[in-house]
Amino acid sequence: TTPIRVAIAGYGNLGRGAQAAITHSPDMQLVGVFSRRDPASVTLIDDSVPVYAIDDIEQYKDDIDVLILCGGSRSDLPEQGPALASLFNIVDSFDTHAKIPEYFEALDAPATKAGKVAMLSVGWDPGLFSINRLYGEAILPVGETYSFWGKGLSQGHSDAVRRVDGVKAGVQYTLPSESAIARVRSGEQPTLSTREKHVRECYVVLEDGADADTVRSAIVTMPDYFADYDTTVHFIDEQTLASEHNKMPHGGFVIRSGVSGIDNKQNEQNDQVLEFSLKLGSNPEFTASVLVAYARAAHKMNLAGETGAKTVFDVAPGLLSPKTPAQLRKELL
Ligand code: NAP
Repeated sequence: TTPIRVAIAGYGNLGRGAQAAITHSPDMQLVGVFSRRDPASVTLIDDSVPVYAIDDIEQYKDDIDVLILCGGSRSDLPEQGPALASLFNIVDSFDTHAKIPEYFEALDAPATKAGKVAMLSVGWDPGLFSINRLYGEAILPVGETYSFWGKGLSQGHSDAVRRVDGVKAGVQYTLPSESAIARVRSGEQPTLSTREKHVRECYVVLEDGADADTVRSAIVTMPDYFADYDTTVHFIDEQTLASEHNKMPHGGFVIRSGVSGIDNKQNEQNDQVLEFSLKLGSNPEFTASVLVAYARAAHKMNLAGETGAKTVFDVAPGLLSPKTPAQLRKELL
């Protein structure tokens, strides 16, 4: 069988992760990387494929089965998604949750008209977490769903820490609260406040002569960012920051806590807890790995005649695998 011809549009963290994930997919072949920057200025993690200017992408219309969009959700995808959906099957990781319905509409019209599939909001949240929220609700309609995020590096909160007077450098992690998770896992179905669900941890390098207590108090009382959370500030030196805080970890939990059975004289109810968790050494490399599996599905769905905007809810799990349905039934069912 001929390999699926894949291309990458946008080459940042996600773009690099996508190239790596395609390398581990023997049924796929990377045709090239498209960038808005001068191709000569873009250095690939593996330079065995060419970099092209994205303005020339229409020329490659017949050479690409599916295009993986690796731009940012804030300003890249809203512009690039609808334009590229009129030329290619596309997959992206659009993660502005509140705007997903309108972005879906913006992709659906051009993709339908072009006879292509436009798969949006693929990744882990939105993405694999969304699927698990759906499973929880559909299977245990009587219950509550809880999403927890972390331990994860937050770019926006790290920037906020670095803006505090006396801070030379620093990073911020968001962590799920252990006690909140324990209560949810027990089947209690608690109502949890923002402060109870997550805690924040900062690792800070002080400027010469800065006072640690003043800096700590400026951080933990900062409105919007830290005041509503229990925040811990650790002071470290520059070497420790460089060696121990240079990765992009993330992860989290989706937990559905529900009950089954009827509660009356003849019967009693039973607690049922469904849990999905991720512990990610690299958020972008994992997100890109999800994108690559869904790129395979988008291509197969389009071959089967499907068109228009799709989300992870519309994709049958078997389509994500390079294995045949018969192989999957034999090996994994
Ligand atoms: P990023 O590294 O900032 O890259 C975004 C774009 O910026 C790239 O496509 C690239 O486009 C351009 N770029 C990258 N490096 C550049 C540089 N040195 N100079 C100038 N331009 C550069 O962002 P990312 O970490 O890959 O994340 C992309 C998006 O993924 C995020 O916005 C987020 O929405 C999404 N995401 C989703 C999930 C999920 O679970 N659904 C999880 C994580 C992230 P060009 O090559 O065209 O210049």
